[in-house]
Order: sequence, then C-alpha cells, then structure tokens
Amino acid sequence: MKLFRILVAAVVFGSVCVAIAQTKTPQVAFTFDDLPAHGPLPPDVARPEVVRSILATLKAEKMPPVYGFVNGFRLTGYPYQADILKDWVKAGEPLGSHTFSHLSLDVVSAERFEEDIAANEPILKRVDPNGDWHWFRYPFLDEGDTLAKRQAVRGYLNAHGYKVAEVTMDFEDYLWNEPYARCMAKHDDAGVAYLEKSYLETADEFIGVFRDLSKQLYGHEIPYVLLMHVGAFDAKMLPRLIALFRSKGFEFVTLEQAQKDPAYSFDPNIGYPGGGTLEELVAKIKGVNFPDNTKPYKKLEKLCQ
Ligand SMILES: [Zn+2]
Repeated sequence: MKLFRILVAAVVFGSVCVAIAQTKTPQVAFTFDDLPAHGPLPPDVARPEVVRSILATLKAEKMPPVYGFVNGFRLTGYPYQADILKDWVKAGEPLGSHTFSHLSLDVVSAERFEEDIAANEPILKRVDPNGDWHWFRYPFLDEGDTLAKRQAVRGYLNAHGYKVAEVTMDFEDYLWNEPYARCMAKHDDAGVAYLEKSYLETADEFIGVFRDLSKQLYGHEIPYVLLMHVGAFDAKMLPRLIALFRSKGFEFVTLEQAQKDPAYSFDPNIGYPGGGTLEELVAKIKGVNFPDNTKPYKKLEKLCQ
C-alpha cells in the first residue's frame, strides 16, 4: 500500500513537472543596434527624438534594462549625438559595443576588426563610465566568414573581457525605416498603413519561426534575444510590437538573464559567410533547415519611390 502511494505520488508529481515544462512562459530580451542613429528620418523629425521616443516607450511599458549597441564613428561627424548616448544611460539603459565603424568581419582582417573594437572604447568610457559596456554585437551578425577569423576575434573579445551579445530572434526590423521616410515625405497614408500592417505581420511570423527553430534545435524554447535598430519606424512601432509579444504571453527579461541559458554558451565554431543568428549557425551544423517564411522585400523596396 505504501509503495502504491509512492508510485501514485511519483506519477502525479511527474505529470505536474510535465505540465510546468509545457506551460513555461516564453521570454525575450529586446536589444537595439546602431546607436546613436540608424536609417533615414522622415521630414520634420530630429535625430534625438527617435531615441527619446524609444526610451519613453521602454519606460512606459516598464521594460527591464535594454542594451543599445554603439557605433562611435557617428560622433565624429555629429558630436551632438553623444547626448543621445547620454540620454540612453540617464534613462537607466545599458550600452554595449557594435565596433567603431560598423565593419563587417567578412570583408576586413581580424586585426583590422579588433582595432575597430578598441577604437570604440574611449567613447563608451566617456559616456558610460560606470556601465558594463563589455557586451559586443557583431555588425550585420557577421562573426567571420572563415573559422580562422571567427576564432581570432572571439579570442580577442574573450581576452578583453567582452561577452558576445547573440541574436536568437530577428525579423529584419530595419527594412521598414527607409520606405517609412519616403512615404512620410510623400504624405502617402496608404503606404504608411501598409508598412504598419506588414511590420507587425512579419514580426508575428518570425516570432513563430524562431520559436519553431528553437524547439527543433534544443527540444524546448530558449529565452530569446531580439535584434532591433534605433530607426524612426522602429520607434513608432515599438508600443505595438511590445503589445504583440505580450499578447503571446511573453515575459521581458534582460540580455544577461536570457544569455544565462546554456544554449548561449555553445559556440557553433564555423566560418559562416553572410553571418546569421546563433540559431541559424547551430541549424547549419546540425543539418536542420530554416523554417519556411516570407518577407516583403520587393514591396518595401518599391513602396513610395
Ligand atoms: Zn548594426
């Protein structure tokens, strides 16, 4: 009888564990690339307004701290943009490095790339003296077209105290910023309406794509790191994008929290021309196909021309 009770308890406990595993809340960390400036602006929008709008939304939505990855070269031409970075820090959001010049590791040597990482440091030190800015996001997600370059730069980052800010969810949000500036200049309301609809539809589709891929690669969902950019249309759509994630039951976490998951300590260790998200590289070495998807590249390119 006692054994029977233990067995019943084990079965009940086991099914509770399964139930908990199945209903685990999906998590995502938002991150923004190309601070202090990304993409063209619509008429009558000043550059600092874009980042201020993003910061206001993050605050209003009570988001946890969100990393912004900096390209210092922009301050050479536009010194006032240092204030945009200071606004980010003042709002309690952390900064990381995205190289000084936004170089692709596919087209330069590892040495040149490492110099460009070092060149970004004086700016980060100046605008964020107390911050943990030793998080690094590769421009274009190009982590090295050859294994030798990949390993050389990873070795450099490691030796200089940097952690790689991976991307595990991406819908190429940046594609909408140029057509938005064009449609606004032409006062094309139908064009803007199409952009709003297609941005959210594509985000929705790619949330599904990366959730599917995660289950295929890891057998479960990992906490995702979402790639975003500080563009004018991104700023406009941010409240609706956050609402989309909330409607799917997502919980918002920090980059540090997401990357505590063991999936992020696995290095696919391959040269990969053209770059990609961590999951794309893992899929490549596991021989898993990227799920079918659609993106309105052509329509975005032609809209409001
Ligand atoms: Zn970038």
